[in-house]
Amino acid sequence: MRWSKCFIPTVKEVPADAEVPSHQLMLRAALMRKLASGTYSYMLLGRRCLLKVIAIVREEMNAAGAQEVLLPSVQPMELWQQSGRHVDYGETLGKFKDRHGRMNVLSPTAEEAITALVAGDLKSYKQLPVNLYQISFKYRDEFRPRFGVLRSREFIMKDAYSFHVTPECLDDEYKRMYDTYCRIFQRCGLDYVIVEAESGEMGGSGSHQFTIPCETGEDIIVQAADGSYAANIEKAAVDPLPKQPAPGNIPSLEEVHTPGVGSIDAVCNFMKTKPQDMIKTLIYSLNDEVIVTLVRGDHDINPEKLTQAMGGKHIELAEENTIINLTGAAVGFAGPMGLASKVHKVIIDHGVAAMAVGVTGANKTDYHVRNVVPGRDFPLEGKTIQIADIRNAVQGDTRNGQTLTFKHGIEVGQVFKLGAKYSKKLHCLFLDEDGTQKPCLMGCYGIGINRIVASAIETGNDKDGIIWPISIAPFEVLITSLNQDDEHVARTAVELYEKLKEKKLDVLLDDRVERAGVKFKDADLIGIPIRLTVGKKTLAEGNVEIKLRREPDRQTVPIKDAPDKIEELVKKLYNELNS
Ligand code: ATP
Ligand code: MG
Repeated sequence: MRWSKCFIPTVKEVPADAEVPSHQLMLRAALMRKLASGTYSYMLLGRRCLLKVIAIVREEMNAAGAQEVLLPSVQPMELWQQSGRHVDYGETLGKFKDRHGRMNVLSPTAEEAITALVAGDLKSYKQLPVNLYQISFKYRDEFRPRFGVLRSREFIMKDAYSFHVTPECLDDEYKRMYDTYCRIFQRCGLDYVIVEAESGEMGGSGSHQFTIPCETGEDIIVQAADGSYAANIEKAAVDPLPKQPAPGNIPSLEEVHTPGVGSIDAVCNFMKTKPQDMIKTLIYSLNDEVIVTLVRGDHDINPEKLTQAMGGKHIELAEENTIINLTGAAVGFAGPMGLASKVHKVIIDHGVAAMAVGVTGANKTDYHVRNVVPGRDFPLEGKTIQIADIRNAVQGDTRNGQTLTFKHGIEVGQVFKLGAKYSKKLHCLFLDEDGTQKPCLMGCYGIGINRIVASAIETGNDKDGIIWPISIAPFEVLITSLNQDDEHVARTAVELYEKLKEKKLDVLLDDRVERAGVKFKDADLIGIPIRLTVGKKTLAEGNVEIKLRREPDRQTVPIKDAPDKIEELVKKLYNELNS
């Protein structure tokens, strides 16, 4: 393509509301423009990147034996009510009422629609296994759309769904998709880390996330020092803390008047204690049941782990009334003493069970107690009592004795074993060999196309602009014609352009009548991996210049050798990604 004919409105200034490099550079390099909060219009360069990622994803999915389908984005609410996910997705679910008064969902993912599709025509085990995928827009009314297309309200997802007769068959396909994802991210030039992730109802090792380590990522990756374990913080299990030695004879409970002092920090200040010596008592409810949870003052409850401890049931923090009724005190002054017999369940984090002594609320407004000894002042055992890992891993924790390290990452893909969750609810049944009817076992596998593009920029940029992996760059080669008003330069640039196109290379010819400085700046900004520069001075000696975007040096080569040299470089860059 010829730049002079293209709409590539690059921008020098860093856009004010773009916080992260990928967002800034996608705007500056004219890949896209914002339409409204969380929605973006892709232009020539941006769309070309998306299409390159899509082509890689499609090629690898097809090679793995998956079949491409296309499902509607607008789906009947009834289907979502059948699976119960209209509740699980909460406010994130986009919906609208049509002119006939029917509620519709804007698909954030498509387990329901695909299960309904297969259920409609599935009869026998002989039709299975099957893996169906689509590449389509997804909608999520994100609470906080941000970081450009890293968290947008509308994005392109590749979502695949597999259907099986046996758990072994599901395991095989899961492994195949896992390997396929490794190839996809490698071909996209991304350095990824695979982490164990929360899988919802299946539990166990039912889900993995593919994450790009990077400062701006919203996920936290927890890794064992020896590489034996990696998990998302939502999932990362920790070793129980060693029991703290008791400091001699601990005096009995002592109530302390702490008027209006409710938060952990305020209590610590007031009572001259540290957060790790406090016991946080958080009260949850589920329908009529009340659940008390205890974690150390410096620890945070992990909602996913709490759900696991509840046997898969999701619980919410209790209403103020429930707390007052249970403790007899205002919110902020709850403690575990005397609660076990009044509630459905007490879940105590290992960290609290290991404490020798602590400070907690007194179940009396404006009072706390000190000298609280777990096991002495509240029970650690009993019918309603469970000791579990319900907190987020923190610096200093171990897993199987290995020190845990923490880093930020961007989730670009996730694979799940779903089991029969959707097939049971949506009656996706088959007749097995033995003549009985059974629900399919399912897996699902998602990839965020736009996030791949943004992640590549997050991890590939410098002060001048983007440094693309060749496989997903908008073009493979940029020809910069430096003196467009010079007939010889302009003609040579076009000849080289034609030759490279004959070699089936993806070339952009910068034939704009602009100063060299402007052209070089734009070239660095849009980040095409290989630049071929045609200028009056070098041309007079029969030469042109070749430069890789990622390297500072330029090479001078005779004009006649340039096309072969470029072709060779393109091959080399692709080979690097495939090895
Ligand atoms: P997150 O935890 O970041 O909200 P998710 O786990 O809800 O993502 P999935 O349901 O697993 O996302 O969707 C599959 C893939 O779709 C994700 O791995 C991610 O690459 C992409 N994706 C999800 N939400 C968004 C979004 N708001 N904007 C862009 N891409 C997204
Ligand atoms: Mg996910």
